Amino acid sequence: MKLSLSSEASSAVFISDLHLSDDRDNKLFLDFIKNVPTITDHLFILGDLFDYWVGDDSGLYVKECEALRDLSRKINIFFLHGNRDFLVGKKFFQETQITELDEVTELYLNDKSSALLIHGDTLCTDDKDYQNFRSKVRSIEWKEKFLLKPLSERIEIAHQMREKSREANRQKSQAITDVNNEDTIKLIEKFNFIPLIHGHTHRRKIHKNIYDNHEHYRYVLGDWTEKYGNYLIWSEKENFTFNEIS
Ligand code: MN
Repeated sequence: MKLSLSSEASSAVFISDLHLSDDRDNKLFLDFIKNVPTITDHLFILGDLFDYWVGDDSGLYVKECEALRDLSRKINIFFLHGNRDFLVGKKFFQETQITELDEVTELYLNDKSSALLIHGDTLCTDDKDYQNFRSKVRSIEWKEKFLLKPLSERIEIAHQMREKSREANRQKSQAITDVNNEDTIKLIEKFNFIPLIHGHTHRRKIHKNIYDNHEHYRYVLGDWTEKYGNYLIWSEKENFTFNEIS
């Protein structure tokens, strides 16, 4: 998918991995959302906004969705699915007026700047267990079957999946849960060395590399806690920079 910002756009903000949950205090996010119009007119959410999403009919995250709806009256919001909130569906996008992005989105910020947007889990190819799990739950059959289950059962399954993934990640090495270097370079080459922005690994960093004489930047967004958050901001003047909020 290709997306171009309007020529008047002067900035864009990127966030991911907020892991909003009904058993967590989401005040930092709600305050941030109120403040966004003073920072930018384009907000990109690159997945795992929610720690789990069991269907658009769940009745969970009412306040958070209302805040997003209010914000989309003022600015443009875009959302790319993460591995935790891959079930965010049509009704959510209709109600919040957020624009859904493809798993891989080429973003043209202006005539000089562009970026490739992904959640990041598809590059963690060393984690075979996770990739197998991913292809199972992303199948149309699995999703349809899951969404037909009673709400209480879906929530129960989501909690179990969350526990399982926490337990599995505790046992995996740091290297396994990071992006695979070769697959990352392949993707970067395929998209002509434009900057890559992703989250998922929770390892906030700016990676500067030279590939084939091309200078390349990979911006890894950090996760949020109840107290601390971070965002990447692009502007014509400053290019890409990280900011922290607390
Ligand atoms: Mn993730």
